[in-house]
Amino acid sequence: MNSEPGTFFSPDYATARDRFTRAARAAGARTEAIALDARGPAREALTIDIAWLGAPDADRVLLHTSGMHGVEAFPGCAVQLAALSEFAALAPGCALVLAHALNPYGMARLRRTNENNVDLNRNFLAPGESYRGSPPLYARIDAVLNPASPPGFDFFRLKALGLVMRYGMGALRQAVAQGQYDYPRGLFYGGSMLEQGPALFLGWLGCKLARVRYLFVLDAHSGLGAWGEQTLIGAPGVNATGALELAGALAHAVIDPADSRSPAYTIRGGMAGALRHTLPAARMDFVLQEIGTCSAIAVLGALREENRWHHYGAATVDHPAKLALREALCPGSPVWRRRVLAHGRGLLERAAVWTWNYGER
Ligand SMILES: [Zn+2]
Repeated sequence: MNSEPGTFFSPDYATARDRFTRAARAAGARTEAIALDARGPAREALTIDIAWLGAPDADRVLLHTSGMHGVEAFPGCAVQLAALSEFAALAPGCALVLAHALNPYGMARLRRTNENNVDLNRNFLAPGESYRGSPPLYARIDAVLNPASPPGFDFFRLKALGLVMRYGMGALRQAVAQGQYDYPRGLFYGGSMLEQGPALFLGWLGCKLARVRYLFVLDAHSGLGAWGEQTLIGAPGVNATGALELAGALAHAVIDPADSRSPAYTIRGGMAGALRHTLPAARMDFVLQEIGTCSAIAVLGALREENRWHHYGAATVDHPAKLALREALCPGSPVWRRRVLAHGRGLLERAAVWTWNYGER
């Protein structure tokens, strides 16, 4: 395979899935596909694909997930393809598990959310927690955030600037992105129940990782932070020893999303809590890796336009609003793509060393 970083990036979901499964088999991985009911734009089947490298009965597992946010899958999948291309044998008792495109519908249709407009990283509520409620400020900005019309120029940036001046950037970001359960066509909608993809994925993990003693999870995202830079975000309530050690090795902070000075924000229904609940016997570290693209307002504007086209237009995947969203979350710049590969591989390597040595410190 050509080692130029850009070649690990695929142009669409079907190509990415095909390359992933071929590379996984070539690397000696066992592969599984979790089939979903939703279909792609050409009515093609959609699957969450998994490659298991190393011991079938591993007690130390490094899990790398891509595509929780659909269109953000392109960089995460490129990192997984690169990892498969350079995979070396693991020590006994260790496994590297790559989960490709947790939201294949969003990847195939170039949107952040799944077939029910659900933001999957707001969908994993704790057992008994109600799929209801929204930040109070969300109701006040709903009309600006989610216009019930196809995309069109309507001074969004000016309106957004007005909202920032009125409410402050921190409060606004928290209200918009925390997750809401009352506006099914709105952005950052967390759903009304656990969605099929997350439910099947958790079920698979609960079955296959039941005996795992230590699990390190790396969840790949894009769109937050400075262009081409990585931001590492921890998960409240989840052990962070490994994450912090890793951060030290990378000379890079792991951000506490609850820290009001951080560029991140707290969310409801993130995946980390659900993993904790699914695998109660395992010690776990969790790091969400963001690679920055453009400004927060530009990303929000692109999400907003695509959402309008999806609900109030023809929702075709070649519409400029779809392509602009992909560019906002996976820029075509070769420099940016090289940085994705460098950050992605670097974090995977460090996490692998930490995971394989777990219990020997
Ligand atoms: Zn994301």
